[in-house]
Amino acid sequence: MAEREPVIGIDLGTTNSVVASVQGHQPLVIPNRTGQRLTPSVVAVGRNGKRLVGAIAKRQAITNPQDTVYAAKRLIGRKFSSSQVQESLQRLSYPVVCGEHDDIRVRLGERDWALPEISATVLAELKLDAEAHFGCPVNRAVITVPAYFNDGQRQATKDAGRIAGLEVLRILNEPTAAALAYGFGRSVTGKIAVFDLGGGTFDVSVLEVASNVFEVAATGGDTFLGGEDFDSRVIEWLVFGFAKEHGIDLRKDRMALQRMRDAAEKAKVELSSTREAQVSLPFICTPPGGGSALHLQATLTREKLEDLTRDLAHRTLAIVDDVLREAGVRVVDLKEVILVGGMTRMPLVQELVRKHFKREPCKGVHPEEVVALGAAIHAHSLLSEESEVLLLDVTPQSLGVAIAGGYVRKLIPRNTTVPTTVTERFNTSRDGQTVVKIMVLQGESEIAHQNELLGEFVLSGLREARRGEVEIDLTFDINSEGLVSVSAVDRETGQRQSITVTATGGLTEDELARIMDEQRDYLLEARATDEVRQKRQELEALVGEANGLLPRVRGLTEGSEFGSDALLKAERYLKAATRALKGEDLAALGESLEQVGRTVNLFRGIVQRMGQGR
Ligand code: ADP
Ligand code: MG
Repeated sequence: MAEREPVIGIDLGTTNSVVASVQGHQPLVIPNRTGQRLTPSVVAVGRNGKRLVGAIAKRQAITNPQDTVYAAKRLIGRKFSSSQVQESLQRLSYPVVCGEHDDIRVRLGERDWALPEISATVLAELKLDAEAHFGCPVNRAVITVPAYFNDGQRQATKDAGRIAGLEVLRILNEPTAAALAYGFGRSVTGKIAVFDLGGGTFDVSVLEVASNVFEVAATGGDTFLGGEDFDSRVIEWLVFGFAKEHGIDLRKDRMALQRMRDAAEKAKVELSSTREAQVSLPFICTPPGGGSALHLQATLTREKLEDLTRDLAHRTLAIVDDVLREAGVRVVDLKEVILVGGMTRMPLVQELVRKHFKREPCKGVHPEEVVALGAAIHAHSLLSEESEVLLLDVTPQSLGVAIAGGYVRKLIPRNTTVPTTVTERFNTSRDGQTVVKIMVLQGESEIAHQNELLGEFVLSGLREARRGEVEIDLTFDINSEGLVSVSAVDRETGQRQSITVTATGGLTEDELARIMDEQRDYLLEARATDEVRQKRQELEALVGEANGLLPRVRGLTEGSEFGSDALLKAERYLKAATRALKGEDLAALGESLEQVGRTVNLFRGIVQRMGQGR
């Protein structure tokens, strides 16, 4: 067989992203260039103006929260003014501003970034990882999105792919991808549920599988329910405990907040396999009136974590019931429940799922990797002649147009199988009306303005006539990727107008072209940089900084138990780093970067807190 350029599947997650491909008839995760299978979906601009992506960006978030973007997926393709976005803005540590079309821009480094640019940076990193793995260019990909994503969010994700230099073969729903991976190599028939609780979103879908046909029967979810919300509960608990003890509100301190966020997540993850986790954040703040620095120390038990988050876990079940009802499926009709997303490792979540579905969830599927594997399988089947898999997805939200009185006329109800086309006849509503404005809406509300406005367009030059006499045919089309297009025809003149529904919230073609140019330069540069050399340079810089701070830290923490513990650890890390710097081992360099990075963060914190006034 002729050598063919590899195609990849990408799970572009809120928290973590994964890239995979089919190699030798087997879907496999492609580790990134530091040997990790998950790449944090974090983008930052460092002090020197350099772009940082993945673990390295996540690591420096504590000291650089303003220039570090995480969970961009919660904002991509959304409207700045929407209430959900407004609500989430308060929780962001980085500044965002409103763009020209009510879109969201992130102020990062010296300039404003569009959300697709941020996601593109993550996608480009995964593309480079895949290229390093295969030793050849990789230009085509299938990218997954939550089933609940609307048209604007899908378009924006596709734009991100283009900016990253990828031809996006298809936007695929995450649960469909998970089901594909689950069904790979086994013959599955029946109804299955995919329960996906990730870092930022929750999705549940019911699929009907018959040999090679995968049909989504119903899907639902909450784009603002995920691991971050669980972490927030732990942070609140830490903040409350600290306030009770010291009378200080730690939420006002960005750096303290970021450190607590890391610690909360770490404790939560740990508690999936242990019963108790220690949270220890030395030198978290100095009292307002002066005096020695305060430490945050707490013990979190699994029971306490479960008390703090039980309602969040229960919220998933209400959504499950809605989706089952919509699919007309009872729990007992289900053949299998597949758990997806890192949060489904939490024992409480597993227990609730087990009870609710009255069965053991499927074993042998890796919750963080299964979506990327499914995307890889689909990418492969799209290109191979022997393609046998048929995917039938549904539209996640109803589509309609605004009508008189501020109401909505629904044309395509949610959970309709796509691709689908609907044509409806409309009449003018006033005498002598020569112009109609058509507002295309997506959402479930009967009230027009409570839905997402996908786009609007004007059909002009209609014949002057009495009201109702002029007839217009509107055709709505949703393709297999869930993307919407609309066209209108004046029945009498045959005059046709169509819109691709990208006008609101999306990037214009000009903007996209400019960004793509910049990105190309970046990719070329990034490819040219030798990975080991780059890691070594970064590590050398960090070791230098740590050694520089060490004498001051030693002086400042004298006599403190925390201080001496931290110093011992730091010295161990620095020694390991010196060893790593002598070798060529990428993994060892990566590990040292992580450890020394943490040490430097701690040192900077200590100097900042305690060095004041000395
Ligand atoms: P996403 O799809 O949103 O990118 P993932 O599926 O990678 O997210 O899940 C990330 C979430 O899973 C994070 O909130 C993380 O803290 C959580 N997580 C990962 N491992 C565990 C674990 N062992 N126990 C509990 N939560 C976990
Ligand atoms: Mg996910």
